[in-house]
Amino acid sequence: MTNKNLPSNLHPDTLAVRMAVERSQYGENSEALYLTSGYVQPSAEAAARRFAGDEDGFTYGRYGNPTVASFEQRLAAMEGTEAAISAASGMSAILMMCMALLKAGDHIVCSRSMFGSTIRLVGTDLARFGIESSFVAQTDLAAWKSAVRGNTRLLFAETPTNPLTEVCDIAALAEIAHNAGALLAVDNCFATPALQRPVTLGADVVMHSGTKFLDGQGRVMAGALCASQQLVTEKFLPVLKSGGMTLAPFNAWVVLKGMETLAIRMQAQSARALDLAQWLQDNPAVQRVYYPGLASHPQHKLAMAQQGGVGGAVLSFEVKATDPEQARARAFHVLDSMQLLSLSTNLGDTKTLAAHPASTSHGRLTEVQRQDAGIGQGLIRVAVGLEHIDDVTADLARGLDTLK
Ligand SMILES: *Cc1c(COP(=O)(O)O)cnc(C)c1O
Repeated sequence: MTNKNLPSNLHPDTLAVRMAVERSQYGENSEALYLTSGYVQPSAEAAARRFAGDEDGFTYGRYGNPTVASFEQRLAAMEGTEAAISAASGMSAILMMCMALLKAGDHIVCSRSMFGSTIRLVGTDLARFGIESSFVAQTDLAAWKSAVRGNTRLLFAETPTNPLTEVCDIAALAEIAHNAGALLAVDNCFATPALQRPVTLGADVVMHSGTKFLDGQGRVMAGALCASQQLVTEKFLPVLKSGGMTLAPFNAWVVLKGMETLAIRMQAQSARALDLAQWLQDNPAVQRVYYPGLASHPQHKLAMAQQGGVGGAVLSFEVKATDPEQARARAFHVLDSMQLLSLSTNLGDTKTLAAHPASTSHGRLTEVQRQDAGIGQGLIRVAVGLEHIDDVTADLARGLDTLK
């Protein structure tokens, strides 16, 4: 099913536009959207071979679809992995990965600062099925190392993290994982393959929420795992087939088209994010700005080396306050004063979005988990889009300049 007509050694920018399943007999230039749940088989023998996995060919919509395969091939090409497998959302991709790689009695190590739903899925939901977990400080390599046990099968990192943009050393974590006979998975939602390719640093699995920058315009939910052909075929695909966390062809098609502009969007949105971070840093109502592109960021050097010198399009900042109650009221004032930016917990959109993590994306965490993750009541996350930066700063100034 791969595109045999493409020249070899193409650059990632080219693959982002060109990599997909071959054109149909109609020669369409835009990738075809195949809306079908079933496939007519050429013969009973061929059907038997296809269902047994002995022959390429689509059999049933839960197992695969040409438009979905185009998305998978394009993403794998951009991440530099042999293969990719898609899922209905980023969270269902994580669920597929954990179901495929872990069983009762196994142990997984994650960062405390991971995406809120990831912490909840691993620490609470999967714990009910006997999967053990440890959560460690994102940037403390010694803590990752000492959390590893005899039954550790997986290290799962996210970098930069949501919302504090903490950066961890992927190559160092890969070494810790591999020395323990475990795999390293990296959630690459924030940097995307346009800035960071975790497999080149030793990661075994790259996880994506296609909902974010890959789509890039806030339209559909999607997810994926990028890995070796062996992991995809032998581990992930069987779970997808029985678990049914299948990506809809329409959603795959939307994200496929979004990926064509990923690199230029990431550069443009990151440039605006850096401008906004510098502006916030000089604002007297702001206590602290979290952005890997700022020299004041604790892992600035590592981030620049790991992300091609680009900080990404998401930043967070804390408003000045004397106590958590005032901090929350002030953060709410800034958000409620906005006339342009969207009050929304999504990210990766061309529209700039702002949100209060403590009461939304991280609202389901316990107070202790939230404090461990460093999510204060005065924290505001901004996912920078493509508007003119002066309009973005003016909109945040409405609230920041009128704090009581
Ligand atoms: C959004 C997000 C997810 C989950 O993806 P969904 O598509 O919403 O299920 C996972 N990790 C990170 C870093 C995210 O931002």
